[in-house]
Amino acid sequence: MVQDLPKSDRQNGWLEILPMLPHPKVLKGKVKADYAVIGAGYGGLATARRLAELNPDSQIVLVEADRIGNNAAGRCSGFIIDHAHNLRAKDFSEDAASAKAQISMNRAGIDWLRGIVSREGIDCDWRDDGKIHAASSDKGASMLDHFAGSLDAIDEDYQRLDHSQLKLRFGTDYYRSGLLAPHSATVQPAALVRGLAATLPANVQVFEASAITDVSFGSPHGLSSARGSVSAPVLVLAVNGFIERFGFAQKRLIPLITWGSMTRELKNSEIDRLGGDENYGIIPAHPAGTTVRRLPNKRILIRNQYTYSATSDSIKGRERVRKTHEKSFIARYPMLAGVELEYTWGGALSLSRNGSGICGQVADGVFATSAYQGVGMAKGTISGKYLAEHIMGESPEHIGLLTAGNGPSRNYPDPFNRWGVTANISWRRRQAGSEE
Ligand SMILES: Cc1cc2nc3c(=O)[nH]c(=O)nc-3n(C[C@H](O)[C@H](O)[C@H](O)COP(=O)(O)OP(=O)(O)OC[C@H]3O[C@@H](n4cnc5c(N)ncnc54)[C@H](O)[C@@H]3O)c2cc1C
Repeated sequence: MVQDLPKSDRQNGWLEILPMLPHPKVLKGKVKADYAVIGAGYGGLATARRLAELNPDSQIVLVEADRIGNNAAGRCSGFIIDHAHNLRAKDFSEDAASAKAQISMNRAGIDWLRGIVSREGIDCDWRDDGKIHAASSDKGASMLDHFAGSLDAIDEDYQRLDHSQLKLRFGTDYYRSGLLAPHSATVQPAALVRGLAATLPANVQVFEASAITDVSFGSPHGLSSARGSVSAPVLVLAVNGFIERFGFAQKRLIPLITWGSMTRELKNSEIDRLGGDENYGIIPAHPAGTTVRRLPNKRILIRNQYTYSATSDSIKGRERVRKTHEKSFIARYPMLAGVELEYTWGGALSLSRNGSGICGQVADGVFATSAYQGVGMAKGTISGKYLAEHIMGESPEHIGLLTAGNGPSRNYPDPFNRWGVTANISWRRRQAGSEE
């Protein structure tokens, strides 16, 4: 029995502003396939696509518990990033080679996604504008100086931005120091994942609203949902933190929810008051700070805060988060006082203590890709693509970065794990100060 299924609410602004979704194709009756993939986030969508490309005569089934786009993949902030926001502070020079390889791997993920989006004409507002790291405090500014030094050490290009340049771009004078990293992209994430699912090769059958409630591992594996079943000799788990519920990586992933809010559409008079560019993405200088996106659809996105939990279904929790989002919003955009946050939602991240993810075989005929440490758009995509190639016996460049070592390290036993993570979240939040 698969314990704990994903729980959905309909608070995800990205999905709610899309045109109405078609009725889901639900798994019914008995379906046979050569490959079954569970989970239609970045990892599952990429694995299913690549398996189909490499095996045009095989049948692939992709099964998703929820509506595609109502998952973390469609709830995220839409930064498809090539390098970590904060490259390692200690022993950086020793890690320079590995940082370069990671960047090159993430860029392979971005390039692959960009190619699909452009070839298939996916309407997801893809922009190759990069990301701007911005600081409002002295501490944040010195973190950006350090970040610039790390980028110098690996010959990465960037541009520094001062207060007046940031004000010109953002309309607000909240930020004093910035760094433009030019090689990331931004998108409307729910539109991207819906588009990726809709344009899968014809030999992939996609089932939504079809949670897998039971798996009998064997040859073939049998997957059951409320109304149907799939049998397939090869199974891929691309279920984010839910992998533990399938009996793998137990007590090795740290379940975290992070939260986003989106304003209503701004009126033209409000846009005039705001000024600045009509589209940009701000990454906070401090890891516990606030991500901001100004969107060409005249809305503003705010993301901050972490909660130790696998689900975001507490309404009380969401109300508390929304209040903090309102504060962060108004601190940055005092000229927009009175603009409501129309949507507030949480989404699941899975992290591990040692920063390792999962990509590879976990049992006979069972493979998994998961735990992208909160940056799954590029990393989850490339992990899924590489996993499919690995299943087919290929050795893609850099796959060693995903498969090396023993994967995620074991957590401290609970309640110490929960206490430790929760204390760390509160400490970082206090440290973030005005960056939140
Ligand atoms: C608010 C927020 C902002 C973020 N911002 C960014 C960002 O800007 N850039 C970035 O790179 N990353 C960002 N992330 C992280 C990113 O969203 C995740 O790393 C990524 O979505 C993980 O992809 P995934 O495929 O592992 O998981 P998911 O997208 O969660 O997909 C896993 C799927 O498995 C399905 N599933 C689970 N159990 C079952 C079952 N029993 N049966 C069937 N299906 C099942 C789930 O319903 C889910 O759809 C953000 C996350 C959040 C929450």
